[in-house]
Amino acid sequence: MAPDEFRAAAKQVANRVADYLQDLESRDVLPKLEPGDIRKQLPETPPEEPEPLETILDDYARIVEPNVTHWQHPGFMAYFPSVASGPGILGEWLATGLNSNVMFWRNAPASTELEQVVVDWIRRMLGLPDGFDGMFTDTASVSSLLSLVAARHAVDGLNSRDEGLAGRGLGRLRIYISDEAHMSIDKAAIVVGIGRNGVRRIPVDDTFRMRPDALATAISEDRGNGWVPVCVVATLGTTSSTSVDPVAEIAAVCKNENVWLHVDAAYAGAAAVLPEMRHHFAGWEHADSIVFNPHKWFFTPFDASLLFFREADTFRDAFSLVPEYIKTGGGEEVRNYNEYGIQLGRRFRALKLWIQIRWFGVQGIRARIRQHCDWAQEFAAWIDAAEDWERMAPVPFSTVCYRYRGPGLEDETAIERRNAAILDRVNASGRFYLSHTKLQGRYTLRLALGNPRASLEHVRGVWEMLKVAAAGTI
Ligand code: PLP
Repeated sequence: MAPDEFRAAAKQVANRVADYLQDLESRDVLPKLEPGDIRKQLPETPPEEPEPLETILDDYARIVEPNVTHWQHPGFMAYFPSVASGPGILGEWLATGLNSNVMFWRNAPASTELEQVVVDWIRRMLGLPDGFDGMFTDTASVSSLLSLVAARHAVDGLNSRDEGLAGRGLGRLRIYISDEAHMSIDKAAIVVGIGRNGVRRIPVDDTFRMRPDALATAISEDRGNGWVPVCVVATLGTTSSTSVDPVAEIAAVCKNENVWLHVDAAYAGAAAVLPEMRHHFAGWEHADSIVFNPHKWFFTPFDASLLFFREADTFRDAFSLVPEYIKTGGGEEVRNYNEYGIQLGRRFRALKLWIQIRWFGVQGIRARIRQHCDWAQEFAAWIDAAEDWERMAPVPFSTVCYRYRGPGLEDETAIERRNAAILDRVNASGRFYLSHTKLQGRYTLRLALGNPRASLEHVRGVWEMLKVAAAGTI
């Protein structure tokens, strides 16, 4: 593509994205589609001959753009937010233009050093002590996977990096998570050879927080039975209810037992930018590793997960391989990010965060996150004040769990059926998209806030619609 052709097309694309963002609310957040509707509109085979860009972009506008579920829509309140801010999008575009592959310093000097600086900016913003270092990965699933590998590497005498695990007559490896932890940890256990049965789920209290006493008992019981405890994962902001595991007490158990502590703050970590929210995070500074996802509640275009580690060398020892073809000098002075994880090639994610943090300023980011927390409290207060609705969990951050409990709903089956119907009605409206979960087996609706393009009016709107849906009139 000749530079002038590229320039003209890029302007057109930029206008298209600006129009998309401006007109989001004219679209149904959930497009009305049946499976296969899109595939039917696309040819089975790729074109043999070049096609004009205009035709391609027209097809994009007709087939693709209207038919995604609109994560950027202010009515998207189903799952933890993943919203791309304007400055974040611009940063993503610039990074794509450079196509800097952040393998090692010599191949990516500015990108590497910017990543070091931005990781440290975010560490400061979240109030983590200066011992923490870190790097960007694609997702929390991968950040947690890397942490489990490092945790396994840290187990004395295991040497699984060189010897593997199979056929060695070792004790079986164990990791500990709460009943409410995210499935990404189970997946990581599958990948690192711990297996699903090596994941021990620790019961939660009545506010869905891991019970440290049960954790301590489980670890000592396991040791007695020949298991090798490898890692405890505490979640700050669980996926279903956003419960906060008591990380200080869990850290004390880990210290006592000499077990790695990984903290999954993929969603809620963003709230640590607020001084008044820091109490939820007290104790996470004792973790060996922490994952926080800027691509969730931090307005950063997908993908961007931040893995913090306290002992960078453990990650490096676990992963580093330096064959001749990547020996590029620079010595210990430089950071070669490929040595700290699985990937050699890595995206230049720091750029979008650098631009975005500068554009909002720390205060701007704080103000938006604070608003989302305030709106969640307002919504929770409306639920609490309404006779026919009940709240299902505390609201520490920006997500509310609740359900309808109107007259005639005597048992769980009836409650589930009625709430599922309410959810379907709201989601069919096109204006809002909500989700559900189960808490202690009880069907629960979820409202997750965190879109900087939304306002309190949207929250009022969804509450009005829920009431109408419950009355069966939409
Ligand atoms: N951890 C928690 C607590 C989550 O809620 C999620 C996703 O919502 C994840 C991990 C996985 O995040 P990712 O999609 O970045 O792998």
